[in-house]
Amino acid sequence: MEPKYKRVLLKLSGEALAGEQKSGIDFDTVTKYCEPVKKLVDMGVEVAIVVGGGNFWRGRSSGSMDRTRADHMGMLATVINALGVADTLQQMGVDARVQTALAMPQVAELYVKDKAERHLSKGRVVVFGCGTGNPFFSTDTGAALRAV
Ligand code: UDP
Repeated sequence: MEPKYKRVLLKLSGEALAGEQKSGIDFDTVTKYCEPVKKLVDMGVEVAIVVGGGNFWRGRSSGSMDRTRADHMGMLATVINALGVADTLQQMGVDARVQTALAMPQVAELYVKDKAERHLSKGRVVVFGCGTGNPFFSTDTGAALRAV
């Protein structure tokens, strides 16, 4: 079957990754989301994924905390998910890379558009963490930015 799109971007919310347990990562659920991704990659479609972090932390639900600090915690939560999704894909035989909007060189690559496109062109899935990299935003905005 000829794919309709050459490249797709998928947004996975943190809640989706938690499955029935509602918080944390449920790897059976992550695998369920990664299976169609593998099918797409096998068809030659380029796939990028933006992950949320609400299964661990949401800045706006942090009560009296400093909002910027709370949102940094939320962005770190997205990185936990990005690493979990990438690892699941790798275990399924799909090459995957994590790129984050905030620099954490020992953990993942920094987001660089050209580098992300190069990964995609080689059939690697790129999993984006940290959303936009800015507090007061959400990973939905990050997904829109990465999509364009
Ligand atoms: N976040 C942020 N800037 C961004 C993206 C996310 O500060 O560009 C923080 C924010 O605290 C947010 C948390 O990360 O609540 C988790 O992201 P989001 O709520 O979008 O995750 P989802 O609802 O998709 O699981």
